[in-house]
Amino acid sequence: MKIALVLALVLVGVWLFRLNRRSERRGLDRQHTPPAEKPAAMALDMVRCRQCDVHLPQADAIAGKQGVYCSLEHRQRAES
Ligand SMILES: [Zn+2]
Repeated sequence: MKIALVLALVLVGVWLFRLNRRSERRGLDRQHTPPAEKPAAMALDMVRCRQCDVHLPQADAIAGKQGVYCSLEHRQRAES
């Protein structure tokens, strides 16, 4: 009889654990779905190197007299 009681307690424990995990996962889903600002924050201004036409983030670009470049080498090559 004791064993049946222990078994019942274990089953209830497992059931509660699963229920808790499921609701936690639902809460996470709710947190992940709404932010609409994320794409805007992820979007970087892309520029094109005048020398080799490679696209790169504006923050990484090297400004020259005639435009932006991907590297110092390309700026020198284009403007010399
Ligand atoms: Zn380049």
